[in-house]
Amino acid sequence: MEASAQIGVTGLAVMGRNLARNLARNGYTVAVHNRTPARTKALVEEFGHEGAFVPAGTPQEFVAALERPRRLLVMVKAGAATDEVIEEFAALLEPGDMIVDGGNAHFADTRRRERALRERGIHFVGSGVSGGEEGALNGPSIMPGGSAESYRVLGPMLERISAHVDGEPCCTHIGTDGAGHFVKMVHNGIEYADMQLISEAYHLLREVGGHSPAEIAGIFRGWNGGRLESYLIGITAEVLAHTDAATGEPFVDIVRDAAEQKGTGRWTVQSALDLGSPVTAIAQAAFARVASARTELRDAYRPLAARRADVVPHELGHSVLDIEKALYASKVIAYDQGWTMIRDAAAEYGWDIDLGAVARIWRGGCIIRAAFLDRIRAAHAAEPGLVGLLAEERFAAEIADALPSWRSVVATATLRGVPVPAFSAALAHYDTLRSERLPAALIQGQRDFFGAHTYRRTDRDGSYHTRWAEPG
Ligand code: NAP
Repeated sequence: MEASAQIGVTGLAVMGRNLARNLARNGYTVAVHNRTPARTKALVEEFGHEGAFVPAGTPQEFVAALERPRRLLVMVKAGAATDEVIEEFAALLEPGDMIVDGGNAHFADTRRRERALRERGIHFVGSGVSGGEEGALNGPSIMPGGSAESYRVLGPMLERISAHVDGEPCCTHIGTDGAGHFVKMVHNGIEYADMQLISEAYHLLREVGGHSPAEIAGIFRGWNGGRLESYLIGITAEVLAHTDAATGEPFVDIVRDAAEQKGTGRWTVQSALDLGSPVTAIAQAAFARVASARTELRDAYRPLAARRADVVPHELGHSVLDIEKALYASKVIAYDQGWTMIRDAAAEYGWDIDLGAVARIWRGGCIIRAAFLDRIRAAHAAEPGLVGLLAEERFAAEIADALPSWRSVVATATLRGVPVPAFSAALAHYDTLRSERLPAALIQGQRDFFGAHTYRRTDRDGSYHTRWAEPG
């Protein structure tokens, strides 16, 4: 077979098929392969007219179709299947060739795979791809890791097929080895927080504000014309406006309230604990999904719902504007937590990550795309060492303006028994970081008491241990 393809895609389920079509539509000759050949055949039959595809029946044919250095995009099931496929193809490649894993790999797996393939002279590029099926076809946000050398070759292709906002591609070289998959993981963690916060705002508008789903859809549409403009707010309005055809009820009322997940939010929280990154709003969002799906716990607690006596009928601020402010402020905190975590990981793993560029490539193609990301990009561009968004004057002023409403909304929710775990975690995070003193001093005392773990003093350097008297 003549080597005529600039890139090859193996794994032609929804994501691989659409990325292959995107590449072909952009003028690249694309070799296509799938373990089960029927998918390869179906792709070429259905979409062959869209561009130049080279169907390959075997791994050997596939590799032979690729120009050198060979560029091979793996889009198979994450986990063991990815290892199997990498091993199968690496055996057929030569030094200088490149394997891109566009699946949802854990960044630790990507680091391991990159190291092993580097020893064999093969570039391994773990790349986050966001935007689902539709994004893969029409322009995703792409987050490649791997070597700078591999990006010189792959970058132009990936940038070309990515989403574009204001003429700029939603793709950049994130950093070496697993940096791309790490940043994609944090993207998904932020996505969890954003979705939970929006859901809490809906819940408040309904339970406390007394608005119907259709009215709330209108409120969200209004918000989408302001500073909360984002893909997620837009689709939330659509979901809330939707009526179930079978019953005529609002769609949101006929859906079981047990949230599912594929695990990237969980990975974010697990990694955050390892890194010491305080991503509480993201963690609460992950836990809120888990809690919603624990049917046996909810069944056990549900009888308590009838005890309205423990719900204080107190009214504080809960107007639509108050809730908008609480949502916006909580969102700033959740996003800031994600950026803190990326900065922590860059320091831990030696990645040179441009934090402003991360905001830039998330403005299009991905699930958390939002007008607000442009502000984050600008804040990091204006001050490259920016420690947190609230250190920037405009964000700080907005949060100061939102605070009375934010506190009032969280208080109202608490008094009325409406759970707002992410709103309150975000507010507690803000209050934690802005506190002069925290009760962590007491924890240090407790630790020193029971474990002689020592503590440091405010008035002098060094570690101290107190000889505690046992309680009588
Ligand atoms: P998928 O359902 O995750 O995986 C199916 C594909 O993997 C098929 O092509 C299948 O081949 C292949 N495969 C599975 N085990 C294999 C093995 N042992 N050897 C060779 N091939 C194997 O497909 P997807 O939804 O298109 O996702 C592909 C990747 O992108 C995944 O890692 C996913 O996590 C990631 N991703 C998905 C989305 C999304 O929205 N779906 C978004 C971003 C990233 P056969 O046809 O032979 O079974």
